[in-house]
Amino acid sequence: MDVILQNSLISLFDDNPDPCYVVDLKGKFTACNEAFFQVTGYAAKELIGASFLPLIASAYVPMSQMIFRKVAFHGHRADFDIGIVRKNGEHADITITAVPVMTRGQITGVIGIAKDMTHRKQLEKALLTTQMHLQNIFESIDVCLWSMDVRSRKLLSISPACQMIYGYSQEDFANDPGLWRQLIHPEDLPRVEEKQASLGDGMKIKHEYRIFRADGSLRWVYDYTVPVMDEYGELLRLDGVITDITERKQTEVRLHDLAYRDALTGLPNRRCVRTQLTDAMERAERCGQMAAVLYLDLDGFKVINDSLGHELGDQLLCAAALRISRSVPENAKVARLGGDEFAIIVENISNLSDAGEVAKRILLRLSEPFLLDGYELIITASIGISGYPIHGHHYEDLIRRADQAMYLSKAKGKNTYQLFTDDLTDKYQERLLLEQGLRKALEHDELEVHYQPIVDAENNRIKGMEALLRWKSNGSFVPPMEFIPIAEEIGLIEAIGQWVLQQACKQTREWIDLGFSDFFISVNVSVKQLEQGHFTAVVMDALEHCGLDPAHLHLEVTETAAMSNVHHTVHILQKLTDLGISISIDDFGTGYSSIGYLEKFPIHTIKIDRSFIKDGKDAIMKAVIAMAGSLQLNVIAEGVESAEDKNKLLGMGCTQMQGYLFSKPGNVVEISALLKQYMTKKGLSQKSP
Ligand code: C2E
Ligand code: MG
Ligand code: MG
Repeated sequence: MDVILQNSLISLFDDNPDPCYVVDLKGKFTACNEAFFQVTGYAAKELIGASFLPLIASAYVPMSQMIFRKVAFHGHRADFDIGIVRKNGEHADITITAVPVMTRGQITGVIGIAKDMTHRKQLEKALLTTQMHLQNIFESIDVCLWSMDVRSRKLLSISPACQMIYGYSQEDFANDPGLWRQLIHPEDLPRVEEKQASLGDGMKIKHEYRIFRADGSLRWVYDYTVPVMDEYGELLRLDGVITDITERKQTEVRLHDLAYRDALTGLPNRRCVRTQLTDAMERAERCGQMAAVLYLDLDGFKVINDSLGHELGDQLLCAAALRISRSVPENAKVARLGGDEFAIIVENISNLSDAGEVAKRILLRLSEPFLLDGYELIITASIGISGYPIHGHHYEDLIRRADQAMYLSKAKGKNTYQLFTDDLTDKYQERLLLEQGLRKALEHDELEVHYQPIVDAENNRIKGMEALLRWKSNGSFVPPMEFIPIAEEIGLIEAIGQWVLQQACKQTREWIDLGFSDFFISVNVSVKQLEQGHFTAVVMDALEHCGLDPAHLHLEVTETAAMSNVHHTVHILQKLTDLGISISIDDFGTGYSSIGYLEKFPIHTIKIDRSFIKDGKDAIMKAVIAMAGSLQLNVIAEGVESAEDKNKLLGMGCTQMQGYLFSKPGNVVEISALLKQYMTKKGLSQKSP
């Protein structure tokens, strides 16, 4: 061989960057290049003369022996992958091309050229693992991954999660390219298609919409679609992800409900009213119409809640909410502002009196008794109304003004409605002043008890006295009908009522001591006092304190008060009757009681309301007097102002009367003087004091 070629071959062997080696027919190394030493980690003196076998990883030993024989003894060429063990014990993957070494036509050994594949093998392995990993994800995640060729409208792939989300298999989707679209909720479809149009411009889209599952159930999905364009900017493929977000949506709805709905009644809450009213104002503005807010507060709800328990109170609130909702026009919105307060938004009206009509209907529906848990409850409401745009342009203004108007409805005696007017603000201030004044009335000695005789009109005998409360504020008397409802509302009536009771008992004791003994004292009692847990003790204290026999005491309960909480009233009145106290039903005929109720109450007297005499309702009076007779109840006619009234009543069989004809209510001095005169006339003895 020419020297140049020989040198070239030697340098090709020695300087080859790939590991090269030569073994003899016994498999012992006769030559190795530097790269081979590098890959095995052995030095020349350790390898030359040594067998190749110890280098081979044990799993590859049989294969390497077989290949060696094929090359060394049969002259074949072999390309194979094999694992070796480096000197430091590490594993290396190499690819070898082995050919026989021919010397003068004889095989004298094997020459091998290796390539270190360790790094590539590692990469391949990692790639395979990643691929398997991805495939696993693709197969198992509950997100549906899909890919579609736009031109052929062929589905390239879709992950099995489609079965879980849509209830249709991968094949179903592959076979019917239109299936996906058919499953979208018809209401959402236009919106979905509009969004999809932007895919053609290369825009990614994200949207949420409803679909119908194969089983007919409604699900929410999140759709993220990415367009893939070709080099000309034409839409080539769509890749997408569909996620079932039904649970998230349900949570959102629940959270929204929590934030915007009242948990008890299910009605929108105060926060929601703000939005609803603001929206209503905007609509009214656009249509050139009015919107109104009705602010409704139940009358005396607290008493029912406190006396019959919160559970029944809650039931009553729900039942009232339902009635209110059923008495308003279809497009009106009812909300609970909290406690016993509701707001009603009325739209499409041309003047406030339309809202007044709605209020009337609500009051009417509410006034029918509620049958709850075996109780028959009567509850009324006070309503205030303000309107947009006349009473304000902001939510706060309208609500505040409706609230002020409602306050005035309360002051007017409840169970009514009031439209806001500009002078209401003044009345509101007035009412606040009244409240403040009333709070100090007791300690400032501004209260007085006046008395009005109740007579037997047949013989002009004084049968009793009604104690009537007076409040002298800033030098003038405030009518009881104005301040008593306020005292009830602000929780002062218990203290005031107790004071009246003590004064009346004390005064009666004094008159008895003066020799005027055969009469009763009739004291008005508010329903709030009856609701006090210890009312009978309060009454007994007042009697005992001045040594007054309970037989001298009559307590007057108005018909409406008695009916507001029949069960409780019957119970407490029975206790009072057992103590020897007589009970009168005051203002009879102004409430809703039926004979059935009268029979239930342990009462002795009914006082026919002044309005019957004033309005000449003779037939009703006759009937009431007859009914009282058959129930063996005493009757007193109130507000008798003329001899004509007196005679008429006598003709009907009613003898006991009270009114200006006999005497106006007077203070202690006036009534004491009247009694003195009376006793002298009747020849009653007057004891010396
Ligand atoms: P009432 O218990 O029905 O009292 C009768 C009312 O009719 C009294 O009004 C009395 O002055 C008035 N009156 C009597 N005879 C005539 C008449 O011939 N003509 C006219 N026009 N009126 C007559 P007053 O004193 O203004 O009391 C109004 C209401 O205030 C009472 O009605 C009663 O419900 C309530 N009230 C008065 N004092 C008290 C009290 O101490 N406690 C409670 N809870 N309520 C009271
Ligand atoms: Mg009375
Ligand atoms: Mg009365």
